[in-house]
Amino acid sequence: MKAEHYVDGVFRSDGPVFPLVAPVDGTEIGAVPEATREVVDDAVAAARSALEGPWGAMAAEDRAAALRRVADGVEARFEEFVEAEVADTGRPRAFAETVDVPRAVGNFRAYADLLYGRPERAYTTRIPGWSSGTGEALNYTVRRPLGVVAIVSPWNLPLLLSTWKIAPALACGNAVVAKPSEETPSTATLLAQVIDDAGLPAGAFNLVHGHGPGAAGEFLTGHPGVDAIAFTGESATGAAIMRNAADHVTPVSFELGGKNPALVFADADLDAALDGTVRSCFTHSGQICLCTERVYVERPVFDEFVTRLGERARALEDYGPMISAAHRDKVLSYYRLAREEGATVVAGGGAPEFGDARDGGFHVEPTVLTGLPETARSVREEIFGPVCHVAPFDTEDEALALANDSPYGLASAVWTRDLSRAHRVAPRVETGIVWVNCWNLRDLRTPFGGVKASGIGREGGEYSLDFFSEPVNVCIQI
Ligand code: NAD
Repeated sequence: MKAEHYVDGVFRSDGPVFPLVAPVDGTEIGAVPEATREVVDDAVAAARSALEGPWGAMAAEDRAAALRRVADGVEARFEEFVEAEVADTGRPRAFAETVDVPRAVGNFRAYADLLYGRPERAYTTRIPGWSSGTGEALNYTVRRPLGVVAIVSPWNLPLLLSTWKIAPALACGNAVVAKPSEETPSTATLLAQVIDDAGLPAGAFNLVHGHGPGAAGEFLTGHPGVDAIAFTGESATGAAIMRNAADHVTPVSFELGGKNPALVFADADLDAALDGTVRSCFTHSGQICLCTERVYVERPVFDEFVTRLGERARALEDYGPMISAAHRDKVLSYYRLAREEGATVVAGGGAPEFGDARDGGFHVEPTVLTGLPETARSVREEIFGPVCHVAPFDTEDEALALANDSPYGLASAVWTRDLSRAHRVAPRVETGIVWVNCWNLRDLRTPFGGVKASGIGREGGEYSLDFFSEPVNVCIQI
């Protein structure tokens, strides 16, 4: 797969190139052009011209039709998208087939549909003299696009997370400059081809490849021609982008890191809690922002839960590699750190040996830890691998205190059969999403995002349209 920039309706690959490495076996599978400042400037300028040209003038109904053509185009090339995502990420094929690509199709269709409900949100009032002497006025609200939107996305769900922003941004009439992760450029390139075939006006969607700091990501997010930034990635990167964007007071929507807790009460259906916790800790080798890394279990069932979770972790078949050698080394360094901090390693704790080509790849073992104090770095910091620490608790209040004692607040899972407890506990967990007796059950219309260091703003359904458009008050004196 040859990665290319897409700027002003033209594919180009100028700039130095860097290798694309397959995480499953460490082999080189392609070359990626690194966007220079000039390529980024061109992309932002193209986006601006599109807003002033046919894209900016396009009726909402026509934008919706264009988004549907993009959805159809992704579907028509389903297999290519699956293969590209599997090659770049090393994830199990079934995951790309059932999650990544269908969700990307769904993102374009859902936001096309949402455009039709949109006018109802316009808020009109006619009020007689709000303050004395002002007379009567008619107030109404129009929503207009933000303008040129920069979309910077991570490697863990490349197509799903970028289209989660690209689709609503385009639906609202913005022009987009997207930068995918340097680790996973392929499905973004395919998407640009589909968008080109769908006949969106040149410049409505632009794609630049490259790295973050001191490179394309930084050039783009600090660009004076960018009107808003939608970013998903690490919290530290969010902070860097915020600093970079501060000079231009560019609005941001941030979906950032997490150190997600799960609370397992003794009254839970323990089989269901175990199944759910295995999924929430080890799916995609823990490389989903919503994955659990801290599990708190009520003391009467703690020993049984830990034993069974350890057995399940050891029995797992390959859940896919870490994205890169650097990320594998980071995860293994946390496994070492946890031991130094005094952890008991119940399962895993190292790198597996397969005796085949996968040994050239970047795999680590699903790992279950216990025995660490809450102050341990490996309990506080996001590892982003297939690992959890399990600790006991005695009371509901203690469980909540433990769950909430974190700089992060993205997602949590609560396992209980007690309906009152579920309703009592859920609103008190300081995370943007609280799953009760499930994990990662996603309705795309619901608000998605984190509190504390896990993000700023909400996306999903109407919430995305709220970010990607600006309400403007028009007040007419009568
Ligand atoms: P990352 O922050 O390293 O990179 C994300 C993107 O930002 C990449 O495209 C990268 O090139 C770019 N980037 C890096 N530094 C930059 C800079 N200084 N300026 C501009 N752009 C820059 O994140 P990652 O390693 O790709 O992804 C994993 C992280 O993403 C984890 O922390 C995970 O929790 C988080 N994540 C969060 C969500 C969510 O919805 N909250 C979803 C997925 C992943």
